Amino acid sequence: MSGNWQAGQPAVVGAKASPSKLAAGLHFIATPIGAARDITLRALDILATADVLVAEDTRSLRHLMEIHGVSLDHRPLISYHDQNGDQARPKVMAHLAEGKSVVYASEAGTPLVADPGYQLGRAAIEADVSVFTAPGPSAALAALTISGLPSDRFLFAGFPPRTSKAKQEWFRTMDNASATMIFYESPKRVKDTLEDLGAAYGFDRQVVICRELTKRFEEALRGTVAELQAALADREIKGEIVILVDRAGKREAVPEDIEAALRKLLPDMSVKDASAEVAQHFGLKRREVYQIALGMAEK
Ligand code: SAM
Repeated sequence: MSGNWQAGQPAVVGAKASPSKLAAGLHFIATPIGAARDITLRALDILATADVLVAEDTRSLRHLMEIHGVSLDHRPLISYHDQNGDQARPKVMAHLAEGKSVVYASEAGTPLVADPGYQLGRAAIEADVSVFTAPGPSAALAALTISGLPSDRFLFAGFPPRTSKAKQEWFRTMDNASATMIFYESPKRVKDTLEDLGAAYGFDRQVVICRELTKRFEEALRGTVAELQAALADREIKGEIVILVDRAGKREAVPEDIEAALRKLLPDMSVKDASAEVAQHFGLKRREVYQIALGMAEK
């Protein structure tokens, strides 16, 4: 469960945190996704000095502060989550309007990433209040880092819809992005989701399942959809899960596609330039495409 912090081994911290007066405004801080010591020194400074604390889960934040020896003293601690946002936001905004420094932490990881915070941030920006961040852990980026899948372009998609039909449709609309896809899933639905992934993309698509990142039972399972289905068939899946999906493989360029692309460009370009552009698009050699273009001219 998120908020179930694990203390881990003490690290050597060179400089003592020296919090100075915190700027007025809304400070989003990231909190650990498992290992309590993944909190940043800046986030601790902000927690120690903010005038008002706001948390998705006030108990989790208190626990985290206790672990790190940050006391609440007599400062207000306001609960702000998806269910009470509309009622809680005016209270938070009133503190901001008074020029207070307000810190917001979601239950675990980075606020706004499949977590509350977006509407609060918008309200602050619309009220001309400064918004800051102390960045840190997020399960999506932690998973991407260890996945072994291409990280040049990725698409974070939050949680998928629940029903099989909606989920398959959701997957299909995302494949055009040509990016590593990252999403969160409940452990209870992982097996069904693999089936829907296979139906949408084929059972030979590469997938990585990251479980319990930064925690004691952390693991990463890598393979095709079919391989992971086989690996998990007899297992009950527990803990927190991120699923990553590789983009579709490069489609083999067939001669018809190359000729069609050349036909589009040739009226406005020289044979040489059109061939160069088409070659780059399909990842082919220029000479090869140039020969095709010359062949077309002779037809
Ligand atoms: N804001 C958070 C972030 O930045 O990652 C995500 C919050 S979202 C409500 C919670 C989901 O994140 C979990 O259901 C799981 O899919 C994923 N998650 C959080 N911690 C994780 C961990 N330690 N290992 C794997 N996935 C995790």
